[in-house]
Amino acid sequence: MNHATISELISSLCSNVQRLNDIDIDHLSPDDTVSVLEAVISLERQTQAVSARLQHRAHSVQVRANGHRCSATDAAVEHSGACVRSSATDRRLAAWADEFPVLSEAYRQGQISRQHLAVLRRVDNPTTRDALVEHQAELVNEAIARNWKSFTRHVGYFAHRHDPDGETAKRKAAQRRLTLTEHADGTVSGRFHLDAVNGQAVRNALEFAQQRLLQEDQDQQTNTDLDLSDDDAPILHRTDRGTGTGTGTGTGTGDAAADGPASGSASNGASTAQTAGTVNGGRTRSQRLADAFVELLRSGHQHGAVAPQPLVHIVMSQSVAEDTIRRLANPDSAAPQLDADNIDGRCEFQDGTPLHPTVAVAELTIATLQRVVFSTPNVVLELGRKSRSFPRELAQVVRTRHRAQCAHPNCDSPVAWLQTDHVQPWNRGGPTDVANGQPLCGAHNRAKADAA
Ligand SMILES: [Zn+2]
Repeated sequence: MNHATISELISSLCSNVQRLNDIDIDHLSPDDTVSVLEAVISLERQTQAVSARLQHRAHSVQVRANGHRCSATDAAVEHSGACVRSSATDRRLAAWADEFPVLSEAYRQGQISRQHLAVLRRVDNPTTRDALVEHQAELVNEAIARNWKSFTRHVGYFAHRHDPDGETAKRKAAQRRLTLTEHADGTVSGRFHLDAVNGQAVRNALEFAQQRLLQEDQDQQTNTDLDLSDDDAPILHRTDRGTGTGTGTGTGTGDAAADGPASGSASNGASTAQTAGTVNGGRTRSQRLADAFVELLRSGHQHGAVAPQPLVHIVMSQSVAEDTIRRLANPDSAAPQLDADNIDGRCEFQDGTPLHPTVAVAELTIATLQRVVFSTPNVVLELGRKSRSFPRELAQVVRTRHRAQCAHPNCDSPVAWLQTDHVQPWNRGGPTDVANGQPLCGAHNRAKADAA
């Protein structure tokens, strides 16, 4: 294409895209809103793919900008004010995708997004490479057919299936680290990186403790609101904290969660009222997390930590467990048949994040086992109409069945926020059993109660 044709193409494209702004968003029917949004998402993906490919290629094209020789990509990024870091990410992703022709093509067609590619790239390593190359087309189809959560889970299982001895999990466990930096004013910041099981344990311990502190804050707030003159209103439990120097301003960025497919759902459950930054009783969520962190370490140091309930729930099918143990004893025996969509192929955390079976089996030595028979959930696990609330064991089964996902679409509340709700309300004859139970986060449970 010559220069004139390119200019013409670009200006007609821009004016067509501009026409999207002519859509009167405020007066679209709900159905039209969905179809316009879907079309725009697809457009966005296609332009992103072109942009990433261009940035990758143009990086080796030299031009002059501001009197300096630089790459065409750098010149364009500089002129447009684009984020340098995200441009570099785009380039790396496009370079990676070059080695997977089917994935690249689907990316270009807008069938899969850069986020899909990024998830696949994260499981690419010497152990899984051949399988990724071989199953590109199948992975594209899964990306198209599944919603986000289900796709990331599918990819996790895919990676574990093609790494039967858990080489990746071993490498990841070896990468664990924690660094603390003490600053001149005595404050301390830290970073840590943990394997999946210990990462979940830390996340859940912090989240449960945070919830407890939130409850304390809210109780205190209520008491203050009720009677402002009451000098005996409970004072927040603050044993010898914050005295003298060395008050840790823990800016610990837990990047443990950012490594797995369920990246950081604890920190970005943004759709609910419990968002980070919400102030309750004077403390932000992230301050409560910091307080919880210190409190847990202090009490652990003093008494030896005794967890009131399991911090990590692993769901592993009996056949996966048996096959894994057999293979550990004899490397020639068959690898377990991992399958995210089959109860008998499951090996994951309660929230559906895939876990490698060799890691899960290693946890068996210190685990408490609860047997759940899924083929007959209503026969064994029901309390009928006798009990209104779900007892802990039943609630655990409901969570496991729903992969600890709030039933509200797109809600990614962490496990610690979930309550067990009657699908058909108890006061309208709904029984307390597994079939009629669903997890709902506090906010969505209240919203449902308010709407009823
Ligand atoms: Zn929710």
